[in-house]
Amino acid sequence: MRRTAKATFSELLKSLLSNYCILKVKPSLSLFLLRYMKKFRVMNLGGKLILHSHLPPLNSGAYERFVKEHLLGKVLGPSHAQIGLTNACPQNCRYCYNKNRRGTPMDTETIIRLIRDLKQMGMIWLGFTGGEPLLNKDIVRITESAGRDVALKLFTTGCTLTRELAKDLQKAGLQYVSVSLDHWEEKKHDEGRDYPGAFRAALRAIDLFKETTDLHVGVSAVVSKEMICSGQVDEFLQFLTSLDVDEAWLSEAKPSIGAYWNPQLLTTEDDRRYLYELQDRYNRKNKMTVNYLGHFEGRENFGCNAGHKMVYIDAFGEMSPCVFTPMTFGNVQETPVKDLFFQMKRLFPSEECCFIHRNYPLFRKYIHEESIVNREDSYALMKEVRFGPLSHFSRLYYG
Ligand code: SF4
Ligand code: SF4
Repeated sequence: MRRTAKATFSELLKSLLSNYCILKVKPSLSLFLLRYMKKFRVMNLGGKLILHSHLPPLNSGAYERFVKEHLLGKVLGPSHAQIGLTNACPQNCRYCYNKNRRGTPMDTETIIRLIRDLKQMGMIWLGFTGGEPLLNKDIVRITESAGRDVALKLFTTGCTLTRELAKDLQKAGLQYVSVSLDHWEEKKHDEGRDYPGAFRAALRAIDLFKETTDLHVGVSAVVSKEMICSGQVDEFLQFLTSLDVDEAWLSEAKPSIGAYWNPQLLTTEDDRRYLYELQDRYNRKNKMTVNYLGHFEGRENFGCNAGHKMVYIDAFGEMSPCVFTPMTFGNVQETPVKDLFFQMKRLFPSEECCFIHRNYPLFRKYIHEESIVNREDSYALMKEVRFGPLSHFSRLYYG
């Protein structure tokens, strides 16, 4: 039985007092965070106070570390990371950002070491992705290794999930899960993933995860330009509301692969505004949180932190600034993650706009034969990039 309710004022106050360090954060940053939080309804899920799945629960050890290490300590390491647990995937999404990644897969011990090292550098939020991460037979052990002071989120198609695995993952420390759904019509979802049965597998997985006490269950939806232009996102959100999930995590298809290097398929400023408004409208009215990535990463909020506070290590150990940037700055199986990250970070000062959205035309020149940009060429590419101003958060943070 699910136990999600709106957090009360006294619960919020208690969480604030238990993490009293937050009172030392400079007032302009605290004000920013309060304004940001007002866009969402804080939910109480089995005692955890959750804003949305891209941040740790407000009364968790991970949030306390966010305040101490990032807001106060200004650590240079990443706050957010994603790790590919395998590149294997039964599906074949049109927009797949992983298709062109190849190499020798990381073994379990390497992944566990990587998580430990990233935590020491400041990581407070970790997403497991793939491929289909459930296909990694050691996923429970890997989850457990992260400890309770990191917010853990699983991105999955739901294929191969069992009731036991859902429970084991929650017991091992998983807090958030996002099941992929791209359309409310079964046929369209299956076609877009070239996988008959994808829709049913996703709905079944949502039900199994919902049966698992204290797991925050969401849907991640990549909304197409067509859906935005025809006003269908609203209809999609109504469908997601009917599934009784905790969150709809929306993003748009990114120009990570050649098929999307087309301005006609990419979101504009107007599209973003439209999605902002939808997010606000739903969050005012509904129990389900709508969390649009473009809002979190918008110039008014945290901006793009690819390679700066965000890092992606694919299933082969290649380090990229984020999951949607098809480039590598080296392999963690050959060089310590710390060294690679800080070499990369020197090139990524953080900015208000999506890095890949703004710079994808440069990738045409450097991507050869359906692969990602190799290390040498990634450094060459970065010499051609000019960064824009900082986001609102970063101006306050670094100002
Ligand atoms: S589910 Fe993920 S890894 Fe699999 S094809 Fe789709 S985008 Fe790629
Ligand atoms: S490049 Fe785009 S998708 Fe990647 S972190 Fe930046 S804003 Fe997000």
